[in-house]
Amino acid sequence: MTNDQPSRGVETGEDRDSATADKIDRQATRRGSLSRRSLLARTGIAAGALAAGPAAIPAAADATDVTDVPGFSCDKRHFRCGRQVTAAGGMVSSVDPIASGVAATILREGGNAIDAAIALQYVLTVTQPHGSGIGGGGFMVIYDAADDEFSVVNSRERAPHGATADMFLDEDGDPIPFDARVQMGEAVGVPGTVSGLETARERHGSRPRQRLITPAIKLAWNGFSIDEFLAAQIESNWEKFNDAAREAYSDENGEPLSAGDTYVNKDLAETLLWIKYLGAAGFYEGPVAADLAATVQEAGGSMTTDDLAAYDAVVEDPVRAEWGDVEIVGQPLPSSGPSAVTMILKLLEELDLGAYDRDSPEAYHLVAEAIRLTWADRNEYMGDPEFVDVPIDGLLDDDYLSGRAAQVSIGETLADYGAGECVDPGVPPGAGDQPAAPASTYFPGSTTHFSVVDADGNAVSYTSTIEQFMGSGMMVPGRGFMLNNELTDFDAVPGGPNEVEPWKRPLSSMSPTMVVRDGVPEFTVGSPGGWTIVSATVQTILHRYVYGLDPLESITEPTIYTGECLDISWDAGVPDHVRETTADWGQVWENSSEMLGNVQAIDIDAGSDDLTGAADPNRNGQAVGLVEMGPWNGAAGGKDDKGGKPE
Ligand code: GLU
Repeated sequence: MTNDQPSRGVETGEDRDSATADKIDRQATRRGSLSRRSLLARTGIAAGALAAGPAAIPAAADATDVTDVPGFSCDKRHFRCGRQVTAAGGMVSSVDPIASGVAATILREGGNAIDAAIALQYVLTVTQPHGSGIGGGGFMVIYDAADDEFSVVNSRERAPHGATADMFLDEDGDPIPFDARVQMGEAVGVPGTVSGLETARERHGSRPRQRLITPAIKLAWNGFSIDEFLAAQIESNWEKFNDAAREAYSDENGEPLSAGDTYVNKDLAETLLWIKYLGAAGFYEGPVAADLAATVQEAGGSMTTDDLAAYDAVVEDPVRAEWGDVEIVGQPLPSSGPSAVTMILKLLEELDLGAYDRDSPEAYHLVAEAIRLTWADRNEYMGDPEFVDVPIDGLLDDDYLSGRAAQVSIGETLADYGAGECVDPGVPPGAGDQPAAPASTYFPGSTTHFSVVDADGNAVSYTSTIEQFMGSGMMVPGRGFMLNNELTDFDAVPGGPNEVEPWKRPLSSMSPTMVVRDGVPEFTVGSPGGWTIVSATVQTILHRYVYGLDPLESITEPTIYTGECLDISWDAGVPDHVRETTADWGQVWENSSEMLGNVQAIDIDAGSDDLTGAADPNRNGQAVGLVEMGPWNGAAGGKDDKGGKPE
């Protein structure tokens, strides 16, 4: 794919968005805060980027409707919106209807799946500041159809160079409680998202950065209506917030913003303008970086502007493994996610899961035991491969997994969980003298997962995070974005493969995955939810591939989660008789159900070219499909192709 296609020479939605951004820019100038010119005056960085400037901009257009996404409405006949929709011209599935709409509009204008995913992530920074954003990191799995190539853009946060192995221990050498750790400056990793987005755009994008970031700038500047979910996150994280976050999330009476209020974040709009004009340098160098490092240091962390300037997202080959007649492709270490997904799938293939009804005690028991076996190995062996030798080939080896599966029996458990016993890790081929991992503890987190597929077959599966909801609770004053607490994903107790080390990346569970048939993606899937990410992702795949459910059913069918010694967490809907019978066999269940995961998926039917997107109904997600109506014919004389001119 190529970069920066020439403009069509007529006014498009893109032009109008640029015009709106320019208007915002002028308003910011009047406000004395920021403009391209003032940027030039205030910093020498990447002046070359500024010299190029945005494309020629026609007269300004008004954009005052707070939730208006130019060119997008679910009522337009070329878009289809819903929890599950089918269309052949492109598909987006995300947790946020505004972000899905923006991404679908990028597709409609001829942008590819990577363009749409980049625009979507920038919008989520604004509309879902609790789940992900430019203060965090993530993993983007990409299929580039023209090159027939899978790759991943790894923008995982890194520990600053000043991080130490004991930074989460108190004076007595005990781990600082998790809730306190989350809010420490030491918990903030060097953010990767902006570098990741720019890396993806440079490698695969077809639209200018200006076009992809402008919808987010508009939304931040003009505001949007807060939904119930964001309102709940503002309220429940209030105690954690620093002063800047409290001010940003409060109304004129100092009360937390609530559902239906308009949330305006002009500081964030200006930060995004820095990125718009300077690219990654607008974030990692200059005043934004200085304020970011100062905020972390004030909270006790060691992050410096040098740490920020040194950050670069990494492009890698995905982890790939055969499973039945398909292949599982996803982010490799330092995410344990897709590798753990693969281990569980292979264990369950060995255990002949498909021989049991979906809602039988046997099926749930086997899934629980496969997760327990995998989690014991995950916590024993996995860490950042730049720092530790992980026997990953051995962990994924068929013979090794078949030996592990042979330990499982229907009617009894692998260990006496009721007595607090855990499943032991195995010894995979290649295991050497890795240091023993300390006992691990599960802390729920939350994040966002989304998928985009375009009509040319390009696909993105992207999980993006600031770790906990609202991250560390710290907003960078005057910059409008939340900082992650990703470094709490390290073990607090030093010694194992996932101990803190300078510039290391904490072990993740994020599982952006593609199921691939005959070399091309057939199903993209992933979820937020800390360790439950893996179980939600793997059970969605099982529901789709072993039990033949459609994408939305595969997502909404109840799932369970456990670890090598944890009681089983469960979605409402797990039948009572399943819990009773498996309890007789030794499984231990949590007393009440909880909501596990938030899966977004896209199914790609190679036969019909149909794309079916599904968004998990346990939040406000929306799939948006683009009905294939041929290219817009406006440039050739304004004649509509029945798809409607982009607006
Ligand atoms: N920090 C988590 C991880 O990398 C992601 C946040 C979440 O729990 O959703 O595994």
